[in-house]
Amino acid sequence: MPGQFKKVRRPPENWWVRSYLPAILQGLWITARHFFRNLFIFTAHRFGLLKHVRAGVVYQWPEEPRPVAPRYRGRHRLLKRPDGTPRCVACYMCETICPAECIHIIPQEVPDPFIEKAPKAFYIDLSKCIFCGYCVEACPEDAIRMDVFDFRLASYDRFQMVLDMETMLNSEPSVPYK
Ligand code: SF4
Ligand code: SF4
Repeated sequence: MPGQFKKVRRPPENWWVRSYLPAILQGLWITARHFFRNLFIFTAHRFGLLKHVRAGVVYQWPEEPRPVAPRYRGRHRLLKRPDGTPRCVACYMCETICPAECIHIIPQEVPDPFIEKAPKAFYIDLSKCIFCGYCVEACPEDAIRMDVFDFRLASYDRFQMVLDMETMLNSEPSVPYK
């Protein structure tokens, strides 16, 4: 109801709390505890002990890949029909809905009278993509998915960030949590 408010009573702060020392000491204690625990377990691992206990909360990239959640949206792939042709019918739904305007499709006619069109070229510029997944949602043919679970997408060359149709057609779905 407008005009009503609840007054929050703050606990009294004495000079000890206002000195920030309790918070600083608490932070140092947490850091030191993690440091010495991990140091002890890593040392034990060196001697073949406590292998079942995980040391530290970091992943030893790249030897130890980070687990990926099942709903993670990563690099795109295009699905194929049983005869190997793209399932995509070049309808432009994904290109139209893409908020980053990073999808570019060139259509072509196909001999099959039941398929209106097919892509001649299909590009996605990953340097612009915001991985929103709208293209996957909008596709009426279930022809595009983002389940490759590849997040190693950095490049020194922006042109290397452009995915072409061949790459997307030859990408396989990956499994999260390897
Ligand atoms: S994930 Fe979003 S930004 Fe990326 S290509 Fe699809 S619609 Fe565009
Ligand atoms: S929405 Fe699907 S069928 Fe349409 S152009 Fe995009 S990938 Fe192809």
